[in-house]
Amino acid sequence: MAGTGGTSGRAGVVGLGTMGAGIAEVLARGGWSVTGVEEQPDALTRAEGRIMASTAYAESRGKLAEGEGAAVRARLSYETSIDALADCDLVVEAVPELPELKQRVFARLDAVVGANALLATNTSSLSVTSLAASTSDPSRVVGLHFFNPAPVQPLVEVISTVLTSAGTLDRVREILAGLGKTTIACRDRAGFVVNGLLIGYLNSAATWYERGYATREEIDDALVSAGMPMGPLALLDLVGLDVTVAVLQRMYLQFGDRRYLPAPLLTSLVEAGLLGRKTGRGLYTYDGSTPTATTTGAPGVVPPPPASRAGELPEALLVPYLNDALTMVGVGYASPATVDTGMSLGCRMPPPFDQLAAIGPERALAVQRQVFDETADPGYRPALLLEQLAAADDPDLALHVLRRADR
Ligand code: NAD
Repeated sequence: MAGTGGTSGRAGVVGLGTMGAGIAEVLARGGWSVTGVEEQPDALTRAEGRIMASTAYAESRGKLAEGEGAAVRARLSYETSIDALADCDLVVEAVPELPELKQRVFARLDAVVGANALLATNTSSLSVTSLAASTSDPSRVVGLHFFNPAPVQPLVEVISTVLTSAGTLDRVREILAGLGKTTIACRDRAGFVVNGLLIGYLNSAATWYERGYATREEIDDALVSAGMPMGPLALLDLVGLDVTVAVLQRMYLQFGDRRYLPAPLLTSLVEAGLLGRKTGRGLYTYDGSTPTATTTGAPGVVPPPPASRAGELPEALLVPYLNDALTMVGVGYASPATVDTGMSLGCRMPPPFDQLAAIGPERALAVQRQVFDETADPGYRPALLLEQLAAADDPDLALHVLRRADR
């Protein structure tokens, strides 16, 4: 395909862990010849096993035609050296979230691939710009933030830097459409769209729990009752507390907003190696994927119970999250439609602007003002857009117009 358009060709994926194996499968299912590069033999065995199981399952569910699983697997080959990616049109890097490691991988890729190849990173929290800038041609570098599991999750955030060319973005969008993915465009910024909204909300929920304002179950149940597919504390355990803390730290560094300082409880759990579901214990303790009912949290971190504030839920956690969505729109980082697509396809959460419409701008502003007055934290200042919507003659109509404006 190299530089000539078209939506399949030769692809490479570096690092065949949780994400890389899934991305390799997505590409092979889209007709690409894929070379996976993995340095750990046991990780490679696991990746092959996962792709085998995933394609067989897709066949059994009719998502792949009968016999197509074998064809997909035949399009995949495995290597241990990046040198094997010399003739690739696209390479996606999915090694662990370690800046020096990713820089090394990109330096090698830059030296090995041809001039027309696209280079992508699946990073969740590192600067795509600094990875791009370390290559000889940053115009061909993008972030492709797939969600886990990549073969099933429909969304990919496409991250452009100030150095990415329009031609690169066109090619990447065309490729992802060919893979059946929905994309949202994000400029390089900590958290991008989805984590940029999700992670602050999760950190606030952890803070509520840590301060003893409500029990874990009160917090999670209240948000599920408000339409969330799972409670924020259970979701923290699913995402991984280490991943969450890494994204929070980068968001704090970039925005200086102290709401993104990881809740001390999260940092302690990470230091203790209690990372969530993947280690069997985080905010909850797990028997498989089911939280055991009897646990009360990690020893030493259960706070003394002050006066319960559970009655303020779910709005006390939901409205600041919606306020952040309005701020994101207000500063021109994303449109309401982008935010809604991101949160609904990336996290299976209700579209935030539907949630805002259900609460109503005036009520949302009242709650947000209360949170701001109580905390005196500038991060909780009501978004200018929220103030404007609530001040309109017909706030619900104003919100409707705002949502339609970017279609
Ligand atoms: P992982 O640890 O499961 O997999 C990384 C793999 O890379 C491992 O198998 C490792 O052996 C391999 N590796 C390390 N160095 C290598 C090298 N030099 N050459 C070849 N292979 C090498 O990690 P993951 O969870 O798949 O995350 C990968 C990336 O995807 C990270 O940047 C992460 O932030 C991002 N991400 C993760 C998720 C998620 O839910 N896990 C979601 C979105 C994005």
